[in-house]
Amino acid sequence: MKAGKGKVVSIEYTLRDDQGEVIDTSEGREPLDYIHGAGNIIQGLENSLEGREAGESFTVSIPPEEAYGSRDDSLLHYVERRFLDVEGEIEVGMQFQAQAEHGTVILTVANVEGDSITLDQNHPLAGSTLYFEVEVVGVREATAEELEHGHPHGPEGCGH
Ligand code: ZN
Repeated sequence: MKAGKGKVVSIEYTLRDDQGEVIDTSEGREPLDYIHGAGNIIQGLENSLEGREAGESFTVSIPPEEAYGSRDDSLLHYVERRFLDVEGEIEVGMQFQAQAEHGTVILTVANVEGDSITLDQNHPLAGSTLYFEVEVVGVREATAEELEHGHPHGPEGCGH
């Protein structure tokens, strides 16, 4: 069976950045299941899986516009330390969740200069080309319930 719209595709993958650093991998975990065409995974990765069958392995590089978008400097926020409800030291790379109009956003500390903190609301992988090594381990028809929920179910059914 070929991967395509409405199929549950199961993949093993390793994601690297352009420095070759591993950012994420399914190694040591269960394979990743997703419903093709349901927006479960980034567009570029889904496109590269179209028509693939179990047993196929491939590598693909995905430009930012098909991954997490380009960086947007208007998503940098400058705040004073005293407005952050955080105990202890604030260091570059720390991440906070904040409530925004459209739900939760992740803010990453991009710079600390005395009491001035720069928070970056861009996705940590915005602006990055992503390099995936992928192995397709299974393709099956999604059930009606999975299609309705928009995500795959495991052996125990819906985990949400
Ligand atoms: Zn469900």
